[in-house]
Amino acid sequence: MRRILTTAIALALAGAGSAALAQTAAAVPATAPAAVTTQLPRDVRPTNYDIEVEPHADRLAFDGKVRINVDVLAPTRSITLNAADLEFGAVRLERANGKALAPKTSVDAAAQTATFSFDQTLPAGSYLLTIEYKGKIGTQANGLFALDYPTEAGKQRALYTQFENSDARRFIPSWDEPAHKATFRLAVTAPSAQMVVSNMPVASTRGLGDGRTLTLFKPSPKMSTYLLFLSVGDFDRATLEDSGVEIGVIAQKGKVEQARFALEASRDVLREFNDYFGVAYPLPKLDNIAAPGRSQFFSAMENWGAIFTFESSLLLDPATSNVSDQQRVFTTAAHEIAHQWFGNLVTMAWWDDLWLNEGFATWMEGRTTRKLHPEWDADSVDAAFTSRGAMGQDAFATTHPVVQHVATVEQASQAFDGITYGKGAAVISMLEDYVGEDAWRNGVRSYIGKHAYGNAVTDDLWAEIEQAAPGKQFAAVAHDFTLQPGVPLIRASSACVDGSTRVQLEQGEYTVDRPDKTPLRWRVPVNVRGGVDGKAVRVLVDGKASVTLPGCSAPALVNAGQKGYFRTLYAPAQFKALAAGFARLPVVDQMGLMLDTGALAAVGLQPESDSLDLAMQVPASAAPELWQMVAGSLGGLDDLFKGDAKRQAAIRAFAIKRLAPKFAQLGWDNRAGDSAATRQLRSSLISTLGELGDAAVLAEARRRFDAFLADPASLSPDLRRTVLGMVARNADAATWERLHALARQEKSSMLRDQYYGLLARAKDKSLAQRALDMALTDEPGATNGAAMISAVSWEHPDLAFDFAVAHREQVDGLVDSTSRARFYPGLGSSARELSMVAKINAFADAHIAPTSRRDAERVVNGIQTRIKLRQQRLPQVDAWLKQKGV
Ligand SMILES: [Zn+2]
Repeated sequence: MRRILTTAIALALAGAGSAALAQTAAAVPATAPAAVTTQLPRDVRPTNYDIEVEPHADRLAFDGKVRINVDVLAPTRSITLNAADLEFGAVRLERANGKALAPKTSVDAAAQTATFSFDQTLPAGSYLLTIEYKGKIGTQANGLFALDYPTEAGKQRALYTQFENSDARRFIPSWDEPAHKATFRLAVTAPSAQMVVSNMPVASTRGLGDGRTLTLFKPSPKMSTYLLFLSVGDFDRATLEDSGVEIGVIAQKGKVEQARFALEASRDVLREFNDYFGVAYPLPKLDNIAAPGRSQFFSAMENWGAIFTFESSLLLDPATSNVSDQQRVFTTAAHEIAHQWFGNLVTMAWWDDLWLNEGFATWMEGRTTRKLHPEWDADSVDAAFTSRGAMGQDAFATTHPVVQHVATVEQASQAFDGITYGKGAAVISMLEDYVGEDAWRNGVRSYIGKHAYGNAVTDDLWAEIEQAAPGKQFAAVAHDFTLQPGVPLIRASSACVDGSTRVQLEQGEYTVDRPDKTPLRWRVPVNVRGGVDGKAVRVLVDGKASVTLPGCSAPALVNAGQKGYFRTLYAPAQFKALAAGFARLPVVDQMGLMLDTGALAAVGLQPESDSLDLAMQVPASAAPELWQMVAGSLGGLDDLFKGDAKRQAAIRAFAIKRLAPKFAQLGWDNRAGDSAATRQLRSSLISTLGELGDAAVLAEARRRFDAFLADPASLSPDLRRTVLGMVARNADAATWERLHALARQEKSSMLRDQYYGLLARAKDKSLAQRALDMALTDEPGATNGAAMISAVSWEHPDLAFDFAVAHREQVDGLVDSTSRARFYPGLGSSARELSMVAKINAFADAHIAPTSRRDAERVVNGIQTRIKLRQQRLPQVDAWLKQKGV
């Protein structure tokens, strides 16, 4: 699954001054889970499911019948499996050549199980369990669900499934746990005019003579329940053949050409992965299905052979899509296709090891994007940001180890967080660098080969890498970074001894909210380089280490290449020397130095002036990626002074003055030869200048918006979201109504979703209130409501939080059930007042199960820490600004 982690870069930048320091997107278990387990009894195992379903899209219900081949391993009088929101009809159990038994069915709604009890003991052996049942079709992305969308021909409805982590049980009574792999044969009765899609190709179809068709799919390979997929709708499909596989994209009728880029990307990625994993993609086809609407929590899902992706991460409309959209489509496809091996072919045994799926797919998506699209120039950004984004969460008390214990369905859902994805990917990146690309890949290949169609735990992977890279203490290093939480800090100092540079390294711990914490111990692989082009020396820091570099003229740079998962604190003299030679460092190391300095200054380990001075000395000719950071840094300054209008005005003028020359150099419009990074910087600068209140930029955005109203084609795809976003932020009632009219008349589902999102962005409180009221109506569509409330919360946390709590019953209907414990506290996360802490705590006490409160705890801790750090930082930042004449 691809989580919506919009904040990776924002988080990494947060250390550079933003008050958003603690605005993490993630859930974090802080307390030990209660000793409960949802794992089913292990004495009965399914081997195959034959499923027949008929959805009734009009009345949001379906009829189902499933025949499950089960092995009873030990004599028992009952069989328990998972079921949620299902209504049971006839149930019977047959043994080969035996008579059918009719059990008594009892349902435990809270445990999401059903138990079939028999009045005699069942001997061990193979049985066929047949269950007739009815289920519900939801309106949020879990279980079997419906999405309505506008088309030129009027409103349409299509059906999809989303089962990860534990919602297959809403579709079939099943052993809905990743370790219970089985084969699936699906038969679907649906309107003859509609397309029916599942994991496997169609085996046969039969018209029923009444406008319905029965479609039977070929049997799936042995797989986990959460990977099963079904979709029914008015679709078009485009395909190509490559590597012996039929690769397809499926979209609503008339839109499939917009999936052409994704189709070709899938082909390129599949070739790459067939090679990388050393095992060919095992299914005959691989579809990617585009769905209108959105989820608050994910953008795509890796169902085996039938990837599900929301339209905004799959379709490209040439009139409105830009290079960032292309990048999102490509990386999303690469992520989901990586799962076809890492997750689908080899699956974690239980959710404790979810990171194996998600950390790996996240790392693989970055690696593949850099390799197949070098023109996007993502190397530096990835290396510097992947690790720092995760550190933004990992340095708080509310973090958790990458491998963590998961006890409940809700905890499994909360495990899809920035640590599992971001830290998982960053640690893999470091470990691959430590053992070398070839050894890493050989280990991965043998892990996949050994566990294909089975389940594995983290140590199974480590065992294979250890074998591929002997003599490196690999497993020990890997354990240090995956079994314990937190961020190592490497303190570095150096001296010139006999014409050589002697670098001393000492390991501590970087923490944001626990300055007195006793550091944990990690064995940390560290690359140290002398000067700009010296050769990096690798050392494994186990507590302390020292490195000798030739010569004394160049300052030593720690974490050269930025693949290490740690922050670096230099002794003052060494920092000064590095800062003096800053312009000559490789971009990736410039970024790493800026990110670490900002984060260390934010917690008082380095003077604020160190960080601010670096941002001031970035020359106009520097890489666009660096200027993105300067803009972020200045935006953070502005944020720090929010609430002090007079002081803020002076700071804004200072920030605008710093950014204006760079923006003047780029201008508003694309120039031939602009790189992807330059184009992205242009929109960032426009947005930042707009947020800083730059009158000229705001006026020009307004002018372009008015031109757009007259002629939509006048606004280029590169500027579309930037300009519309700025206009929406600063909207008055009349402008807001213009946007509202655009939303209502829009016939493209993708653009319509964007417009409703824009309506929730207004700074004006009364307009924000109107967006909240609208979110509860049918107008924006069932999947836009929660996103609108969430968007309002960034500017108006109290307004949004209070509103959602006051309308809890309605809001619950807009958020899928296992994500509510995350959604409500999240609305308070940008708060600046301690009063929000009390509100979230009261809400959690009343409405969130004690085992699911980690998100609430994380948000509360984030707000408290942000307020405290702000008080510590303000005087230093203010003094620096005054020194600059501000
Ligand atoms: Zn994923």
